[in-house]
Amino acid sequence: MKSKIKKFMDLVRQRNQFEPEFLQAVEEVAETVIPYIVNKEIYYGKNILLRMVEPERVIMFRVPWINDVGEIVVNRGFRIEMNSAIGPYKGGLRFHPTVNLSILKFLAFEQVFKNALTTLPMGGGKGGSDFDPKAKSDGEIMRFCQSFMGELFRHIGPNTDIPAGDIGVGGREIGYLFGMYKKLRNEFTGVLTGKGMSWGGSLIRPEATGYGTVYFAQSMLETRNDSLKGKIVTVSGSGNVAQYACEKATQLEAKVVTLSDSGGYIYDEEGIDASKLAFVMDLKNNKRARISEYIDKYPKAKYVEGKKPWGIKCDVAMPCATQNEVNKVDAKKLLANGCFLISEGANMPSDPGAVHAFQAAKILYAPGKASNAGGVATSGLEMSQNSLRIVWTREEVDERLQDIMSNIHENCIKYGKQDDGYVDYVTGANIAGFVKVADAMLAQGVV
Ligand code: NDP
Repeated sequence: MKSKIKKFMDLVRQRNQFEPEFLQAVEEVAETVIPYIVNKEIYYGKNILLRMVEPERVIMFRVPWINDVGEIVVNRGFRIEMNSAIGPYKGGLRFHPTVNLSILKFLAFEQVFKNALTTLPMGGGKGGSDFDPKAKSDGEIMRFCQSFMGELFRHIGPNTDIPAGDIGVGGREIGYLFGMYKKLRNEFTGVLTGKGMSWGGSLIRPEATGYGTVYFAQSMLETRNDSLKGKIVTVSGSGNVAQYACEKATQLEAKVVTLSDSGGYIYDEEGIDASKLAFVMDLKNNKRARISEYIDKYPKAKYVEGKKPWGIKCDVAMPCATQNEVNKVDAKKLLANGCFLISEGANMPSDPGAVHAFQAAKILYAPGKASNAGGVATSGLEMSQNSLRIVWTREEVDERLQDIMSNIHENCIKYGKQDDGYVDYVTGANIAGFVKVADAMLAQGVV
């Protein structure tokens, strides 16, 4: 088996030599899916996985815009249209200086499996730019978004490709992107998700990824007749996903003790309750300031510069910042401190060394493609509401989100339960996602 995986990876590596994140994501899937394919007559010998790792289309374009002092700045825009076997391409846009082809291809590849897991009819895609929204004025953000959409609009549409937010792209950016799309196309459609409530958005969409990550943790705990009540939780990040993971975990009576940003982390031993979280939300979403300012308001908390929160003692950890933010050393610290559940809000936040450490320790470990699928699932619900031209209530959307997360959890168990009863959620998520997409690809022929 190892030689089959190696042969496959050698081929993928040869074609994508300078794309480490993409290769990492593919290898994790290959390690779990190839052993499954080998035993299945319908998949074996069809090069299905080889077809899946090749994007259907990669779009790369120039994004020129003018900054507040009149200089012309040039950024690079991307959209990876990875797989449309089960529905139109769907996946977020990331604006961050580290964005490149490798990162977006890894995200698009993961998205294909994640979207399949939601059971909604959505293919996978991802896009973005190396544009850095930090310290930019609203006018600069708007001009950048307009220029970005000035090219992207010809490649997307409500039945073709429906982008959403990701790192650096929230409600403000979706608004500017949508405004430009509407102007260029002269039509009001559900071409983006994460829209504002008065112009086609869905209730619960801002909360969905963070809430879903917590719902998934809850399902995992239920397999051990346990709950989040009284658990100490460490969360990384302080953006969209981290904020709502913190909110829902607190509502379920857990104590969240950390949040972070790229500068460092805060540790509040007393817990980040609803009023402290409201302060963080204002700090991050309105003032666009640093998490370090938390200790000015709450001096009993600590700020640790340049470090990640994984050395803090906890029962549950929810990495909600970015890829590869938990390495093997971090994983060992978490395990040594008694952490027994990881529910990933970010995409691929644990590197392979960390994943193997969690699996070897047989703790409850959920990969992002399963545990953070609530965001895209609720985007799918936003698309449904747009098509039907109706608005579901908060309760209706939340109930659907909880059902979807619970179904994803069941599917992970179906494909990931090992002979000794341990649930390998990585294997479960990869195979469940693969089966759905592969079956559709087989039915549609070699295209
Ligand atoms: P935001 O931009 O709202 O927040 C990102 C947070 O992560 C910020 O606190 C940011 O800090 C921190 N961060 C980003 N890059 C780094 C880095 N290199 N090192 C340390 N901290 C970093 O993004 P989201 O909350 O939307 O996304 C967070 C993660 O969740 C990403 O992996 C994303 O792909 C994933 N995700 C998001 C979904 C969504 O619906 N938004 C859906 C599914 C997954 P700073 O402000 O200092 O940069």
